[in-house]
Amino acid sequence: MRTIALIYFIIAGNVLFSQGLCIHYLANDGFLVSSGMNSIMVDGLFEKIDGNWCDSPDDSLIEQIIGGQSPFDHVSVLAVSHKHIDHFNGKLVTEFMQANPQCKLVCPVQVEDELAIQNGFENIKDRIISITPDFLQDSTIRLNDIPIRIIRLPHSEYMIHDSVNDVLVNKHKDIENLGFVFSMGDSKVFHMGDASPNDSLSFQKYQLNLESIDVAMFDRMFFAGAKQNMNIVNNLVGARYNVIMHINPSNKELFYNYFIEKEQVIVFKDALSKKCID
Ligand SMILES: [Zn+2]
Repeated sequence: MRTIALIYFIIAGNVLFSQGLCIHYLANDGFLVSSGMNSIMVDGLFEKIDGNWCDSPDDSLIEQIIGGQSPFDHVSVLAVSHKHIDHFNGKLVTEFMQANPQCKLVCPVQVEDELAIQNGFENIKDRIISITPDFLQDSTIRLNDIPIRIIRLPHSEYMIHDSVNDVLVNKHKDIENLGFVFSMGDSKVFHMGDASPNDSLSFQKYQLNLESIDVAMFDRMFFAGAKQNMNIVNNLVGARYNVIMHINPSNKELFYNYFIEKEQVIVFKDALSKKCID
């Protein structure tokens, strides 16, 4: 019996040793996730935001990313969750894709529409996979050997007053927002874009809890307020580690200190700060 176990260990040894994951924080919802020699980047390329309501990548970080300097030297997939300016800039994404010809881009159709008006689009269009599943639908693709499950998650609500009809309307109703589950080595990472904590229905439908997700990136609103939000975090997704993103810089210290004792919750403070897990 021991001999059989030993043989199995020798044959399967390379499988038994996990490659693990390293996550670099970029800005807002922007991350670089690496496993072995593979990296994916999500929502990392956008311009400085006016005001102080979210972190933006500074010029030197943008230069480092586009130039493919370490740790951005093996980015095989760039994913963009939606077209908002705190997640995506068409000019910067086009520059990056031109300078990194190995990289493929996955995004909603609305993002490709914005890229199509950029100079240089012709040079990158063959490496763009734009897809917008219907609500409550998903799709799985494989890009540069990385399986990616794409799920449609409605953008979080932003209610404004329509003075003509005297009603409240959701300004973000028509924004195509995607969630991604990336399989990297033997680990899985989930990024939700600007999903809504009020949307238990989608999370029930997608059954992410059956995916054994290692790291999930959650909008801060999931960690504030109603009990149902934590039901999504803990039960409907149920990742080993949760990263809290989209934190207003003035609240960063508060979130960081509140979760400092909780090893399973990660709050990044500075650009390029890094967390690795087994
Ligand atoms: Zn948004």
